Amino acid sequence: MSTGRHWREECGVVGIAAVEGASELASLALHALQHRGQESAGITVADGHRLLTHKRMGLVADVFDEGTTRALSGNWAIGHVRYSTAGGSNLLNAQPLQVASHRGTISLAHNGNLVNAHELRREMELQGSIFSTTSDTEVILHLLARHSGAQVEDALLEVLPRVKGAYSLVALTRDRLIAVRDPYGFRPLCLGRYRDSYVVASESCAFDIIGARYLRDIAPGEMVVLGDGELSSRQLPIKARERRCVFEHVYFSRPDSIVFGQHVESARRRSGEILGREAPADADLVCAVPDSSNTAALGYSRVTGIPFELALIRNHYVGRTFISPAQKVRDMSVRIKFNPVADVVAGRRVVMIDDSIVRGTTMRKLVKLMRAAGAAEVHLRIASPPVTNPCYYGIDTPVRNELIAASHSVDEIRTYLRVDSLAYLSLAGLREAAGDQDNHCDACFTGNYPVSFAEEPGRDAIERSAGVRIPVKALPADGEE
Ligand code: AMP
Repeated sequence: MSTGRHWREECGVVGIAAVEGASELASLALHALQHRGQESAGITVADGHRLLTHKRMGLVADVFDEGTTRALSGNWAIGHVRYSTAGGSNLLNAQPLQVASHRGTISLAHNGNLVNAHELRREMELQGSIFSTTSDTEVILHLLARHSGAQVEDALLEVLPRVKGAYSLVALTRDRLIAVRDPYGFRPLCLGRYRDSYVVASESCAFDIIGARYLRDIAPGEMVVLGDGELSSRQLPIKARERRCVFEHVYFSRPDSIVFGQHVESARRRSGEILGREAPADADLVCAVPDSSNTAALGYSRVTGIPFELALIRNHYVGRTFISPAQKVRDMSVRIKFNPVADVVAGRRVVMIDDSIVRGTTMRKLVKLMRAAGAAEVHLRIASPPVTNPCYYGIDTPVRNELIAASHSVDEIRTYLRVDSLAYLSLAGLREAAGDQDNHCDACFTGNYPVSFAEEPGRDAIERSAGVRIPVKALPADGEE
């Protein structure tokens, strides 16, 4: 995570304990987590004596080939994939972060975002600390380095209560792997069995690819220390009410994963079914905006009886829309990514299902493409509520004034998108779909932030603290691009 101006990131982490060929397994596992971050990839290995890190900008397949993984010899490994908005993206901030300290070399990889990283960093800088990245993960390393205790795990238990926000961490020493989740459990982290040892990963799909077996989630506030075939579990000395990120179920995690102890596929399918009951449409076919809303669309189709069709084809060889930082490029990449099947949609009333609307950019273009392909009517159903607030706990959402639903009503959004009808899943519906027992964070939909911050973090904090009034993004009028 980066504390610079462009700090929002989404990440995936893995850890392999005491297994021969750990770097190969870690690189395979990172392939399965590629959807969680496409900007940089890295692995640190340990062989009982020393640590070695290899990281580069790019996709896992670009960063690791047979040669690089073979050169990373050792039975211990942690890995990381990262994505941040482009301004903050550079190799310095790529993870894992490996440092030398008085208690030996340690490497750390982090999924999440700390909301008090700025304050802690400022405090330490005034005391003479020199930071070499803009990453909030480095703040944890500095806190660790200043702690006098001999064991990393003891030090972590004492310093982590100072950091606020979301963290699912994997740390590597020369002969131990440590995995920790923050007391709220914002981001996922699960434990698996591989032969007679253990592995950890953000999502269980990383276990499937290496033939490991999902055992359980690392609990919120739990620290698991993996030695040679051994596991010990400790608890951070802070209590909090569990707040798992509901957006993992909406969009972020893969449907073939178990996340927060639940199959993502079933939560997503339920969201489509509930959406179908809450907002049926009079239409001839249901289609998904592939791939993230495929499962919800199947659920919607089952409940409404409207046939599911593959009406929109996605080009899998271009990255996620969000990857392009400039709005112009983003607009273009929608066309590069999706193409309607004219034969399926021509003259028919289409219900399109998407998992979320963030800026509205993708959908406005898609609707235009659908109409150009001859759709008689385009109805839009969204399998989550309107995104009205930025996430400060590790999901990349744009600043508040770019979130279309932060400043526009559903009817205004319908007009902007030029759809015949628009409905979102209710918050109660989403909670039901995600099996919520008052243990989710839904701040992006409600503004109820479980961990408070002195000043709202993020890019618009800079403008706000300078007294600049942040203008609400004006929507182009009908007919305009
Ligand atoms: P937008 O064009 O800004 O409204 O983006 C909406 C699209 O982006 C939807 O199709 C979502 O599937 C996808 N999306 C939602 N949240 C994210 C995220 N955090 N990162 C990348 N893509 C996202």
